[in-house]
Amino acid sequence: MTSPKPKESIMQIKPYVGGKSKADGAQRIIKLSSNENPWGPSPKAIAAFEAAAKNLHRYPDGGHMELRETLSKTHGFPENELICGSGSDELIGLLIHAFAGKGDEVLYSQYGFLMYKIYTLANEATPVTAPEKELHFDVDAMLAAVTPRTKILFIANPNNPTGTYIPFSEIKRLRAGLREDVILALDAAYAEYMDVNDYDTGHGLVKDTNTVVFHTFSKIFGLPALRLGWAHGPAAIIDAMNRIRSPFNVTAPALAAGVAALHDTAFVPQQREKNAIERKRVCDTLKQLGLGFVQSHTNFVLVHFGSTQKATEANQFLTQRGLIVRDTVAYGLPEYLRISFGTSEENNLLTQALNDFVASRNAA
Ligand code: PMP
Repeated sequence: MTSPKPKESIMQIKPYVGGKSKADGAQRIIKLSSNENPWGPSPKAIAAFEAAAKNLHRYPDGGHMELRETLSKTHGFPENELICGSGSDELIGLLIHAFAGKGDEVLYSQYGFLMYKIYTLANEATPVTAPEKELHFDVDAMLAAVTPRTKILFIANPNNPTGTYIPFSEIKRLRAGLREDVILALDAAYAEYMDVNDYDTGHGLVKDTNTVVFHTFSKIFGLPALRLGWAHGPAAIIDAMNRIRSPFNVTAPALAAGVAALHDTAFVPQQREKNAIERKRVCDTLKQLGLGFVQSHTNFVLVHFGSTQKATEANQFLTQRGLIVRDTVAYGLPEYLRISFGTSEENNLLTQALNDFVASRNAA
């Protein structure tokens, strides 16, 4: 039988591989590979999820009314500028699907989030990368890479896997330097972790420019299992995305949990604080151990092990102890490992293991 041939651009896609969650032989698994919230979601979100279990025989609200209303009240954005999706991944895909096709270019930075490339190829558009400067997004390089065919420019701010950010003044300079019709897609998956004054998610740009901001409930809100994200953009862009999304793209338990999570207003600041404490503890240990790392503004840190071989050895060493971290080979950063921060107890085991790894290397 002759097999049907997928579109050529589909076969160029390297499938996304998520953070591992298994380590053969380890007694206990500590998952630090997917930038999850190790303390879990708001108990109010869990209660709402459980209550939604009683209505599984009904379709969800395809218009996401209650969640959009709650987002609108929480943030002050009009409801017709809001769209919800099965994770922000889906919304990133919908934006590219709606606006870029054959002959169009989608631009992102050298170490940009892998899904930008995957969705670009899936839509037969051309992925274009601009170099970064010392693992930071470089506005000038990005503007230099814009061509008449550029349709969308993505930036995750702060970025995954580097953990770096650029200040709002730079985002504004980028927007000002772009053609009006180029969509600036600001991926704010880790925005809630930010605690510096010169950072801004960029929602203010939506009113007068073609800018779309993406958010997720998968990170600080601790709900990745439910797959829930949202985006804020000009009504015309959101309308185009809505035309192609599947009618019931977000499940009812996810919508209910999202609404409850937003109502628990104390939750996010608490989590930000807890993460900042753990981030400092882990990074202080990295410093003491003489391991290089990229200053983190998120719930993970990119650690430099000096060579690909050492990073691979460190990864194996940690895995043997059940500590699962993320190699960044797929990002072109093979000398690094990306490590998410865990609970205090988990981070004790992590820092102990890193200490033992460095000691074993020094002894060798
Ligand atoms: N953007 C960035 C920068 C991310 O790191 C992630 C998750 N790895 C996402 C978007 C997608 O998150 P989700 O689909 O779970 O909302």
